[in-house]
This record gives sequence, structure tokens and C-alpha cells, in this order.
Amino acid sequence: MRIILIGYPCSGKGTQAKFISKKYNIPKISTGDLLRSIILTQKNKESLDIKKKIEQGKLISDSIIISIIKKRLAEKDCLNGYILDGFPRTINQAKIIDQNKIKIDYVIELLISKKKILKRMLGRQIHMKSGRIYHKVYNPPLHKNKDDITGEQLITRKDDTKKVIIKRLNEYNLFKKKIIQYYKQKNKLNQLKFFKINGKKKVFIIQKKIMKILNQ
Ligand code: AMP
Repeated sequence: MRIILIGYPCSGKGTQAKFISKKYNIPKISTGDLLRSIILTQKNKESLDIKKKIEQGKLISDSIIISIIKKRLAEKDCLNGYILDGFPRTINQAKIIDQNKIKIDYVIELLISKKKILKRMLGRQIHMKSGRIYHKVYNPPLHKNKDDITGEQLITRKDDTKKVIIKRLNEYNLFKKKIIQYYKQKNKLNQLKFFKINGKKKVFIIQKKIMKILNQ
């Protein structure tokens, strides 16, 4: 089962991807997590450039993204499928994965308004090493500011400020229409299945809808 989740940053993709990953035993692959891991583990010009761009809410070049995603998808745990979170973010990325014969079975779009996103984004916290996501109000950790599993400190991402998130939402909107059109066309051609889900609903309701789609 090879799935792409599409939606604004903070639309709940990460939370749903985590659920799907556990339920169907396939890895959740987030290009944002992969990039943050490069920033944490590599100290060179490329990682510094990536850090700067992320903090400014700008997209990383397609060539870097394609190279890291291809490497990740070639790993053994992806043999039975994967769930992609935050990828593709440009139409070029979508086309390149097709050209590389990387197959996708489902594309699920989480629909949610910009206004709601802004509300959600303030209060989001992350455990950097694992990518586990929390929210101070909607999904708090068991112990304040601590990761549930390791007890390590949670942080607020530097790109989760109002100014940067608006930039990220605008970047998303630049490409969203074309990507959705691209996958709708592939849906028509029976090359994959495309679904939209109301991302404003409660987490467990969205989970149920996703299961219905994937269990068909
Ligand atoms: P995310 O964790 O998905 O919100 O991504 C955080 C940031 O990483 C984004 O704002 C971009 O700067 C960068 N990024 C993540 N995925 C991609 C992608 N597929 N293409 C380009 N930039 C990306």
C-alpha cells in the first residue's frame, strides 16, 4: 500500500500518517523529518542551506528532495509500501517520482481552511529525534513539554511562527492546484485512487474515513 497524504502544513497529515503507519505496518516517510534529521546530523554547507530555507518557510530544491526520497524509498522497510507526508510539494517532484517508476496507489487530500491552520499551528510541539508531534491543546503530551516515549524535551519548531507559517501556506498554494489536478487525472485513468477528506473533523473520524478508503 503506497500512499500520499496531501494538505497544508499543520493540516493533521503527520498525525494521520502516524496512525496509518501503525495500523498497516508501513513506514511513515516525511520529507520534513528527513530534512530535519540532515540538519541534526550533518554539519556542512548543504545542511546549513537547508536549515536557513526551512526557517524562512521556503521550499528546498527538487533535486535535493528527490535525492533524499529516492534513497529512503530504496530501504528494505519500504518493500510493502509507505506513506508519504509532505511529499510531493511541487508538480515537478510528482512527475519525477513517476518517471522513476515509484508507484503510488492512493492520494488522500486533507481539506482544511487557512484560518483553522493558523489556530492549530500555534501550540504545536515536536520531539526532534523521532518526529513525534504534539499540540499543547489538541494533543498534549502526558507530561508537559516532554516526549511520551523518551521523556525528552519537546520543542516548538522555528518555522512554526505566524510569519513563517503564512509563507509556508503560500508556498503550498503555489503548487497545490497543479498537484491535485495531476492526481485527479491519474485517478480518471485508473492509475491510482484519489480521495478528499474533511480535515476539520475530529482525529478519530478522519482515521475511520481513511480506513474505509484503504480497506475497500
Ligand atoms: P514539514 O515538516 O512537512 O512541514 O516541512 C518543513 C519544511 O521542510 C517545509 O516548510 C520546507 O521548507 C521543507 N520541505 C519539506 N518537504 C519538502 C518538499 N517535498 N519539497 C520542498 N521542501 C520541503
